[in-house]
Amino acid sequence: MDGPAKMSDLINNMGMTPVFDKATGKYKITCKFCKTEFLGRLNQKYHPKCKIAANNQIASKNNAKIKSETNGLKKNNRILSDLLLKMDKSHGELIQIAQNEILRLGFDFKAPYRFIKKDDNTQWYVIGPFHYRVENQFFLFYHIK
Ligand SMILES: [Zn+2]
Repeated sequence: MDGPAKMSDLINNMGMTPVFDKATGKYKITCKFCKTEFLGRLNQKYHPKCKIAANNQIASKNNAKIKSETNGLKKNNRILSDLLLKMDKSHGELIQIAQNEILRLGFDFKAPYRFIKKDDNTQWYVIGPFHYRVENQFFLFYHIK
């Protein structure tokens, strides 16, 4: 039933070779999640229930990071949408405000963005429906048509 022991499995299991239990034909494994010992296959690292719990814990941490990034992206989009309305500009029309002002409004330059290069060789950041760039202490942006 068990395949040949892989060196990586042996190393991963707390750096020790699991002890073989002759009575059951299984190995004494220390669960990586709850840290208690159980009898299992040589390549097993978790109790089946603990494996699910461990996967959920990883997914939960990953989702929290993604949520934090999307919150930054949404906030930036909201700031630019509000400015677009407030300044009564049309789609495609370039809007220019002081960089200090965009920072004061809470624009997060570390939030996720894409990057494009236009035909005139200028580089623009893209978030949702907006293109923006910083030039000479000014924040330039426009709403994509
Ligand atoms: Zn466990």
